[in-house]
Amino acid sequence: MLDTSIEYLKGVGPQRASLLKKELEIFCFGDLLMHYPFRYVDRTRIFSVNELNEDIPFIQLRLKIARIEHIGAGRSARMVAHCFDDTGEMDLVWFQGIKWVKDKLKPGLEYLVFGKPTKYGRRYNIAHAEIELYTEEIFSRAGGLQPIYSTTEKLKSKGLDSKGISRLMQSLFDALKGNIPETLPLSTLKQNHLMDRRNALTQIHFPDAPDKAKYAETRIKFEELFYLQMQLLRFKYRRKTMVKGHVFGLVGDLFNTFYHKILPFSLTEAQKRVIREIRADMGSGKQMNRLLQGDVGSGKTIVALMCMLLAIDNSYQACLMAPTEILANQHYKSFLKYSEGLDLNVELLTGNTKTAQRKVLFESLRNGDIHFLIGTHALIEDQVQFGNLGLVVIDEQHRFGVEQRSLMWQKNERVPHILVMTATPIPRTLAMTIYGDLDVSVIDELPPGRKPVKTMHFFDNSRLKVFAFMHEQIRQGRQIYVVYPLIHESETLDLKDLMDGYESISRDFPLPHYAISIVHGQMKSADKEYEMQRFIKGETQLMVSTTVIEVGVDVPNASVMVIENAERFGLSQLHQLRGRVGRGADQSFCILMTGNKLSAEGKVRIRTMVETNDGFAIAEADLKLRGPGDVQGTRQSGLEGLKLADITRDEAIVRMARQSVEDILDGDPNLAMPEHQMIPWQLKNLSKGNSGLGMIS
Ligand code: ADP
Ligand code: MG
Repeated sequence: MLDTSIEYLKGVGPQRASLLKKELEIFCFGDLLMHYPFRYVDRTRIFSVNELNEDIPFIQLRLKIARIEHIGAGRSARMVAHCFDDTGEMDLVWFQGIKWVKDKLKPGLEYLVFGKPTKYGRRYNIAHAEIELYTEEIFSRAGGLQPIYSTTEKLKSKGLDSKGISRLMQSLFDALKGNIPETLPLSTLKQNHLMDRRNALTQIHFPDAPDKAKYAETRIKFEELFYLQMQLLRFKYRRKTMVKGHVFGLVGDLFNTFYHKILPFSLTEAQKRVIREIRADMGSGKQMNRLLQGDVGSGKTIVALMCMLLAIDNSYQACLMAPTEILANQHYKSFLKYSEGLDLNVELLTGNTKTAQRKVLFESLRNGDIHFLIGTHALIEDQVQFGNLGLVVIDEQHRFGVEQRSLMWQKNERVPHILVMTATPIPRTLAMTIYGDLDVSVIDELPPGRKPVKTMHFFDNSRLKVFAFMHEQIRQGRQIYVVYPLIHESETLDLKDLMDGYESISRDFPLPHYAISIVHGQMKSADKEYEMQRFIKGETQLMVSTTVIEVGVDVPNASVMVIENAERFGLSQLHQLRGRVGRGADQSFCILMTGNKLSAEGKVRIRTMVETNDGFAIAEADLKLRGPGDVQGTRQSGLEGLKLADITRDEAIVRMARQSVEDILDGDPNLAMPEHQMIPWQLKNLSKGNSGLGMIS
């Protein structure tokens, strides 16, 4: 019944049906059932005039009309009904339908009036109120809590305003005759004191009282979050019991030699702890699926490298995938350097690797000659096949789509261990929701001796001051990044901004004392790499670039990051960019340049950056500003399936739902018990059109 096409609902028909589909994505009865009101207006009581204040929403009054006046002419013509009740006076105003008002409303009679009051001078008025002659019967009919549905202009023109949708809802409930199946186990309802589904949906659309509507809403939110968690955790439980992982039992020569002879610094306690966690996973016989979170500069790369050495000690291959070519190159170079003196074969694969080279590379990958492969998403290509891949590391994982990551699972007959790394810390509730399937390790400590980056904000008109500061820093032997945002839709225009900036910097930092590198997305990769290397080697003092250097780039001697048009960047991007400096022992600076006009949100972003270096605090602020849907890493996460629940505001319900799901899976991992039979059924319903990527986070 719920699958029945909406066209066949009484009151719909083909014309309205096609509009409902187009405008609201309502295709069948079930979709309409889940078109929830976004608020209610309270017509349970009658307000009196002396209760009015300016914050009051739509309300209902019982007013007697004293007299009716036709005021003004032409465009400003209006009808005003001067009204009163026992407590005071107010006006009703109409700018249209003047004739109707004249004919219908009579002084001396009492009316039930509904609308939003506004104050004009000292008097309240309601424009275009809903009005009917007052009778007890009318009041009881209008009464109650009225749901307000979202709709569109096109639908309104076909009679489907909020009221119209309400009428459809009535005919839907008539048609369903209470046939609304339960989707949660009875024990879950009981434990969490939830309404049953039929009741909840009835109360959402036809509430008896405000608290009932609230209670119904909680039940629906719980259900949404329950199934989101179920989708995530079910795979985690199944993987834990079914997918066998490679066992890396041995801590061998490579790892030990590296640790004792090559590693140029001692690991932080946090790095050691995380390596222990990962080793425990990879030695357990289960397949690892772990997220490594650590603020920018916390030293994730070395952790990844050491885990990869473990894999090779145990006769497996390992690979690392990075989101940009610059970053892949950088990892490749540093791994080459670290593996000097080790018997290791490290190779690089990017979109620019030549065909002839590829052939050789693919061959030696298959026969196991290559131990480490580092690359960009070129690693995902079909021809890339390993002899015996044991570990996949994905750097800056939020830059990859779920689908891209999932393909890395299939690079070996037995699923390799997966370590995904991110510098974008996410708040706990969000992590619980979108990474429910992953185990999480956190590096919550920076290497010793780092001085926190000092962040400063300057308006464009203080540019001379900023240039003076940059000169001084370069004189002290430091290097500087100057980054331009992508502003325009068109790459050529963006490039123009960058080139204009480059020219003005060239004027202020002239040869022969200064050398400037420039890097942007449209350069050939060999040129990019050449410019990058000049900067890394210290041959250039300034690096002018677009955000291609945003993630991962590591040049310890660079100590100033100047961000142009900083108001155009999101918080997490600003934090990432700032993370490019503060990597050496010198005091580092981040300079945010903005225009004089800042939006309210822009101000908050700039202030947050100036006030804190803490990635978690920044992530919280970001979540508050943008809402969860926009935070990096949340796309394709199932969050868009949440209609009522809001994981930032409904934290308590998130926890309740997750606990219930864990309890159920602990006792019945395959969901085979009769009282759980609706769960697989509902999961199947929910995953219609979804390719089962839920297995991978
Ligand atoms: P991220 O976590 O942002 O990827 P990186 O792995 O690039 O950070 O590390 C940042 C810098 O810190 C690198 O230059 C790295 O060599 C250095 N580093 C990492 N761990 C330590 C440590 N324990 N002590 C000192 N320096 C370290
Ligand atoms: Mg990194």
